[in-house]
Parts: sequence; structure tokens; C-alpha cells
Amino acid sequence: MKVFVTGGAGYIGSHTLVQLLTAGHEVCVFDNYCNSSPVALARVRQLTNRDMRVVEADICDADALTRGVTDFAPDAVIHFAGLKAVGESNDIPLRYYQTNVSGTMNLLGAMDAAGCRRIVFSSSATVYGEAHYLPFDENHPIAPTNPYGRTKAMAEGVIADWARATPDASAVLLRYFNPVGAHESGRIGEDPDGIPNNLMPFIAQVAIGRREKLAIFGDDYDTRDGTGERDYIHVVDLADAHLAALGYSGAAQGCEAINIGTGTGITVRELVAAYERTCGHPIPVEIGPRRPGDVASSYAATKKATNSLGWCAKFGIEDMCASSWRWQSGNPDGFGDAPHSS
Ligand code: NAD
Ligand code: UDP
Repeated sequence: MKVFVTGGAGYIGSHTLVQLLTAGHEVCVFDNYCNSSPVALARVRQLTNRDMRVVEADICDADALTRGVTDFAPDAVIHFAGLKAVGESNDIPLRYYQTNVSGTMNLLGAMDAAGCRRIVFSSSATVYGEAHYLPFDENHPIAPTNPYGRTKAMAEGVIADWARATPDASAVLLRYFNPVGAHESGRIGEDPDGIPNNLMPFIAQVAIGRREKLAIFGDDYDTRDGTGERDYIHVVDLADAHLAALGYSGAAQGCEAINIGTGTGITVRELVAAYERTCGHPIPVEIGPRRPGDVASSYAATKKATNSLGWCAKFGIEDMCASSWRWQSGNPDGFGDAPHSS
């Protein structure tokens, strides 16, 4: 199948490329590298021994996007490109709406021009907001609590309306829980710019000695040990979910939202302990205040993913930590220290 992948050089995109190319699909990546490096694509080529087409451009440039999609004439699109930092979305909301909402509209317009009617979209569990009940199922009310989450909810709505209005269209909205870990080779992984916003890359940087200690954001939540509980999902499992969604989109019409998680919650302290077992030394922590906007617990109902996609997570927390550590210890500065061809 010919698959057009926006944001393919990023963390989740690069892992999905490995699975796509390994499965024999033909790929075109569309990315402006605003939060990624071409080194990631060079490594994907090495890992798979397969090549791919690459267009370096911005999804906000509707003409470039339409040219990219029509030239490649894909059977399906996977749409990863977007901005994802919750804190930053409070400071520069318009840039978030422009990229995540207008960018998605540009992409759907480009697909219309090329006659492509299948899309798999990177959404987020953030769209649910405060839990009315747990686990979150796909019918839980949508009430995001920050601009980033609102852009994802709006993009979901735009895609659903497009699918309703487009004969034979098929859209799958994958609501990711907390993607972590890396490819087993340790050659690609998450490479955050500056101070990591998320827990796992922060723990990894403390473990390698790049940062002194982890601040735990509150230990007085109503959870097993008082720290926040999340549903961490191995990025390779997540990548496989995209291939399952592509298959599903070939048979189904309309628009479906599907959670992608393990269904199991892990607390901050449990994740730190698992990482310590992996790296073999203690990870210094300090209890700090709660982070505004954080919820106590978030984990997925996974029945729909199993029933619709025939997909479920295979990897556990030990695999997530081991692969993260292999990536972090082999690439202490991420992709930054590597020449572009390596
Ligand atoms: P990432 O930042 O590593 O990857 C995003 C990619 O999109 C990058 O390569 C970036 O350069 C590219 N990009 C961004 N804006 C662009 C633009 N205007 N034009 C062209 N390319 C652009 O992020 P990721 O973690 O791989 O996330 C991928 C998608 O999944 C995002 O849409 C994100 O919102 C969503 N998501 C991520 C998480 C997570 O925790 N990582 C959770 C839920 C949803
Ligand atoms: N967290 C923490 N210290 C950090 C980063 C995160 O204690 O430096 C906690 C956070 O409060 C939450 C969990 O780790 O309970 C996961 O946070 P992350 O930002 O990775 O994901 P999200 O909150 O978006 O689900």
C-alpha cells in the first residue's frame, strides 16, 4: 500500500515507519523537522534496509501539501504532524490551532485533490479531560482542559465531518494514552528539545546523569502510593496499532475513535522503580507540588481496539524501560550528536 506520513520523522512517526517499511509498504514522509531530525529517517532506512520518499515542508503550506499528496497518490494517509506540548499551547495557542487544526484541514483538502479517502489520525487521551469514570472508554465526554487538547478535539471534529461528507471515506482517530520506550535496536527513540515535559524522558535523562533529580509532581493523589497514575504504552505497540488501523480503514467506512493503551495504570513511583531495576542504580527524586491541570489517574478501556482492530498491547513496563534505557545510554544527546548520514 502507498502511505503518506505527515510528521514521519518524529518520535511516534519514525517507529511507525519501521513497521510500515518492514511490512513492505511504500512510504512518503512529509515533515518540516520543526521537532525532529533527518537523522531519524537515515536510521529508519538503515534499520529496514528500505528507502522512502521525503518532502521537507510545512503542513501549513497548503500548496506544498497538495503537491506532495497528489504527486505521491497514496492509498492512505497517517497524520502525525502537529505540535504537542501542553504548556506551550497555553503560551502560543494560535500557533497550535494553525498547525493542528488548519494543518489538518489542509491535509484533507490535499487528499480530496488526490482522491485519497483513508486517514489515520494521531489523537490523544487528553481530549477526555477530567475523568467522569475510569477506565476512559470512547464514549466518555470530550472536555479537554488546555489549548493542545482542544486542537485535537477540533481536528477530530473536522475529520468526522469530512468523513460524513465524503463518499467511501474512512477515518480512524487513534486516542493515544502515554507513549514511551524506543525501538529495540536503540537506534531511534524520543529526543525532546530542552527540558522534557513528560515523565519517561525526564527519568531517562536523570538516569544518564544529564539532570540531577526528578521532581515528582505531587504525592497526595488518591492512588496506590499518592503519585499520578497513567497508562504507558510502548511506542512499538503504538506503531503496530497504526498498521492495524490502516487495515481496518480498508474495510470500514465512516469515522471511528479508538483508544490505544494497555488498560493498566502505573504510578510515577512504580515507573521510577522499574527504571531503577533496568539501569541498575537509584534515580534521585524530590517531591514537589502538583502540576496544575494534572489528573490523579488516567487509563484506557481497550475493548474497542481489540474488537475493531484486532490489536492489543504486547509489551509491559519492563520492556518500555529497557528499550528507553538502551536508546538513552547509546545516544545520550539524542540525535543531536550524530552526523546527518549516520
Ligand atoms: P513529535 O514532535 O516527535 O513528532 C511530530 C512530527 O511532526 C515532527 O517530526 C515534527 O517535525 C513534525 N511537524 C510538526 N509540525 C509540523 C508542520 N507544521 N509541518 C510539517 N511537519 C510538522 O511528536 P510525537 O510524539 O511523535 O507525536 C506525533 C503525534 O501524536 C502528534 O500529533 C501528537 O500530538 C500526537 N500525540 C503524541 C503523544 C505523545 O505523548 N508523544 C500523545 C498523544 C498524541
Ligand atoms: N510527572 C512528574 N514529574 C515530571 C513529569 C511528569 O511527576 O517531571 C508526572 C505527572 O504529574 C503525571 C505523570 O508523571 O502524573 C505523567 O506525566 P506526563 O507529562 O508524562 O503525561 P500526562 O500528564 O500528559 O499524562
